[in-house]
Amino acid sequence: MADAMTETDRFTKEREGMVEFQIRSRGIRDERVLAAMRKIPRHLFVPKGLERAAYEDRPLPIGEGQTISQPYIVAVMTENLELQPESRVLEIGAGSGYQAAILAELAGSVVSIERLDSLAGRARGNLARAGITSVRIVIGDGTEGYPPGAPYDAIIITAASPSIPQPLIDQLAEGGRLIAPIGPKDCQDLVKLVKRDGRVETTSLGGVCFVPLIGEFGWSGEDL
Ligand code: SAH
Repeated sequence: MADAMTETDRFTKEREGMVEFQIRSRGIRDERVLAAMRKIPRHLFVPKGLERAAYEDRPLPIGEGQTISQPYIVAVMTENLELQPESRVLEIGAGSGYQAAILAELAGSVVSIERLDSLAGRARGNLARAGITSVRIVIGDGTEGYPPGAPYDAIIITAASPSIPQPLIDQLAEGGRLIAPIGPKDCQDLVKLVKRDGRVETTSLGGVCFVPLIGEFGWSGEDL
């Protein structure tokens, strides 16, 4: 069957559709972001049995009550980080490792913190299967940041917090960008913070719904 589509071809085609109809059509213009999302095989970052849903326009469960974000939200957050090839990036909430893989395509170095051992292990495995070796997954409470790699040009929090953890603001470089969902536990405001002359400016990018950030400067486990 010369014209049979392999599974890999099918995923590639679905990924192109995802970029055109979910992401570009909604206003994402940064060609580097679009190229990264066209390249990274998202189906390698979802649990077994959910691969066929990997390119759908929604978040998916990744175990432990956590989720891999909707592709469009990954694109919005990534575009707003304004990454350069030499950027140093910190992610809080590695989850599946998918967002970290996209960041690794666009930046110089990526550290991603995950509080759950099981997910950190899975993120490492997923990244290895996708051939990505430049992400460092660290187990711990990301609300405290990761001082050994500071300052960071960009920080992305992929879990919801009542406010922006101060240690992360402190670890942001001058001119750096931080993106985070801030607000109540169910749904939040996606906030962009820029540090200029030692001061912070914040703008809102719209409404989102993320799982909670649990830690010293986020929600306490007992609040949930
Ligand atoms: N970025 C991920 C999705 C993240 S889901 C992806 O691309 O798949 C949110 C993740 O944040 C979960 O894995 C959760 O365990 C983690 N998390 C919650 N609080 C955290 C904290 N204080 N530090 C690090 N990770 C945290």
